[in-house]
Amino acid sequence: MLEVETIDRILRMDGDGLPVLSLYARIDPDDRRAFPSRVDELLHEVRLLTKDPDLDRNARLSLRGDVGRIVEAVTEEHLHPRTVAFFSCSGRGLFENVELPRAVRDRHVVDATPWVRPLVAVLDEYHRCRVLVVDRRRARFWDLYQDEMVERGKLRDPDLRKSDYAYGMREYATRNKDELLAKRHYRAVAQRLAEDAGRREFDIIAVGGQEHEIPELLDQLPRNLRDRVVGTFQVHPREEDLGTIRGRAEEVVDRYEREEEERQVAETLERHAAGGLAAVGLADCLWGGATSAVGLLLVQDEVLRPGVVCDVDGWMAAAGDQCPVCGNPLRTTPDVIDELVQSVIDEGGSVEHVVAETPLREHLTAATLRFPLPPLPTD
Ligand SMILES: [Zn+2]
Repeated sequence: MLEVETIDRILRMDGDGLPVLSLYARIDPDDRRAFPSRVDELLHEVRLLTKDPDLDRNARLSLRGDVGRIVEAVTEEHLHPRTVAFFSCSGRGLFENVELPRAVRDRHVVDATPWVRPLVAVLDEYHRCRVLVVDRRRARFWDLYQDEMVERGKLRDPDLRKSDYAYGMREYATRNKDELLAKRHYRAVAQRLAEDAGRREFDIIAVGGQEHEIPELLDQLPRNLRDRVVGTFQVHPREEDLGTIRGRAEEVVDRYEREEEERQVAETLERHAAGGLAAVGLADCLWGGATSAVGLLLVQDEVLRPGVVCDVDGWMAAAGDQCPVCGNPLRTTPDVIDELVQSVIDEGGSVEHVVAETPLREHLTAATLRFPLPPLPTD
């Protein structure tokens, strides 16, 4: 799983004069055994670099070590990820191997620093969800993220047993005490959430429990936490089956993500209709990508479109032989939308893959722009 801490650690990788090799390699889910040979192909150019006399000897030795380290790591089992990213600076004893849940374009970069943009882009697409199941005495916490649910502990009112004793008291007093204990417990839950939020452990919250008890907790949450509650789900507070809890929480997160996509598509189309800074349709978005104008790119999920790319200046189009900007021959690609996505990430924009049914299906892509598009070059 891709963790923020991993990216932080990778960002701190410092070659201190030696190059850092970053390599991203896709795994074909239909042919996972082909992965090592794919990585081997990708390493070809790096091997050439290790013999480049223009490069400092220590740099060449370090790169040679990087190639060896990656070849070794590649034989480890990679069952689930769609992409594996390697970061290596063997001369400084640095190596990281990261599995990504999405396909990222194969690429290697040799630089003074690691190349992390694709990691950041993948991370942007997932919401870190804190899941809790509460009743008036107990709370259980999990983190749901990138198809994994990890336990984050429990809270139990320390006076639980004493409160059972209290049944000997007069009924109204017991009830009163129950209310007080429940409130105290909910405040402790809120406190715990506030502390974890302060450490940026999650972005959104899904709350499960019984219909009449959930609002009691929500009432005790401070505004900033309340705003992060994207949905609630009903489940028995003592539900033991984690699959049930996870399934309901995933429904909450999915619904939230679809709604967020719908909102982004609607806002972008409205902005475009009002003549604002937005592009709608593949042709304008490709031009926006080529001119680094895209802020947020919305892409219809799982739609591919063949096209052409200029490797000199980044011109992209659905078809053509010659680049209208520089006149060089164009390279054909099976999916020009993928080229667009990479170019937006390269230029510091963000990308959202839209799964929800929205008008984007007919436009394929839409984007908010940082500045108006320059006029299209003509052949
Ligand atoms: Zn060109």
